[in-house]
Amino acid sequence: MTTTAAPATAPFRFFDLHVVRTRRLGPSMVRITFGGARLPELLTGGRDQRVKLFFPREHQSVPVFDDQGDGWYAAWRVQDPAERSIMRTYTVRAQRQVPAPELDVDFALHGAEEGTSGPAGRWAANAVPGDRISILGPVVEDNGGVDFRPPQGTDWILLSGDETALPAIANILAWLTPGTKAKVWIEVGHAADRQELPTFADADITWLVREESDADRTIGVSPARAESRAWGRMLSAVRAAELPEGTPYAWIAGESGTVKALRRHLVKERGFDRRAVKFTGYWRRGASEEQLLAELTAAAQK
Ligand SMILES: Cc1cc2nc3c(=O)[nH]c(=O)nc-3n(C[C@H](O)[C@H](O)[C@H](O)COP(=O)(O)OP(=O)(O)OC[C@H]3O[C@@H](n4cnc5c(N)ncnc54)[C@H](O)[C@@H]3O)c2cc1C
Repeated sequence: MTTTAAPATAPFRFFDLHVVRTRRLGPSMVRITFGGARLPELLTGGRDQRVKLFFPREHQSVPVFDDQGDGWYAAWRVQDPAERSIMRTYTVRAQRQVPAPELDVDFALHGAEEGTSGPAGRWAANAVPGDRISILGPVVEDNGGVDFRPPQGTDWILLSGDETALPAIANILAWLTPGTKAKVWIEVGHAADRQELPTFADADITWLVREESDADRTIGVSPARAESRAWGRMLSAVRAAELPEGTPYAWIAGESGTVKALRRHLVKERGFDRRAVKFTGYWRRGASEEQLLAELTAAAQK
């Protein structure tokens, strides 16, 4: 049997979106608000709801895509790589039906202004009202694109992530029931990237700011060394923490090396049940999402 790493389609559908407005949230993040004629049919499950966004290439004004329903992934893969739309994964930060159907996505710019980011980051940095993309989004609230699902009997929640995971962490915090104990670590580039995170949970939030960290002065430092320093910042913070008593559920996302190191710490050194640690690499240093998807697809076909 041949399998691929294609994300589950049903109950997902394609929607055409256009930019309604953009708002800078801080030095490293921009919120883009989208509208679309069929947007009321898209139903987010909240929390870490993932969606696929399809961007036009630089020489195009709309993403080139042939909506083949459930066969979309196979159709997308065989399209000319120089022409097919650029596919990236993002989180629905918010959805509203009134006063108009709108959907917000918060984009980390990761060097877009210095020209070092990928196409999605560049697109977001330059987006203006009217720009068009497509989205593969859910049409039922309880869908396979929501991973944050603490089981019955969970006593407290651990959340960790960088700015790419901040939209999901913000939504999870807003979703937690009043009084839920939560320990939260969020890494951002600059102090001004910190956001208000409304929650009824009993949340202890620690912000790790890269620009304030001596360990992040990477000039003259090899890429491997810089990488291990980056993992170290989050890992050291969690390792030094006193954690609550009781049964934990952990949700960790962000750069995949950091995510793996943290998961190992929680399972091997803290004794977390590995089934109670939901971990997702949201990006990997030095690899575009296309490269990661190609690796996953090749591994699934073996
Ligand atoms: C389930 C899921 C949900 C996600 N939700 C969000 C979200 O809501 N908001 C968001 O901003 N991102 C989110 N991401 C991460 C986003 O998909 C990646 O950052 C993606 O690689 C950006 O695409 P790009 O075209 O800008 O860069 P790519 O072309 O994919 O990569 C180009 C280069 O940039 C580097 N790079 C990619 N991302 C970063 C980064 N954040 N910091 C530094 N370097 C980076 C890569 O290592 C590579 O070297 C999510 C990812 C997943 C899997």
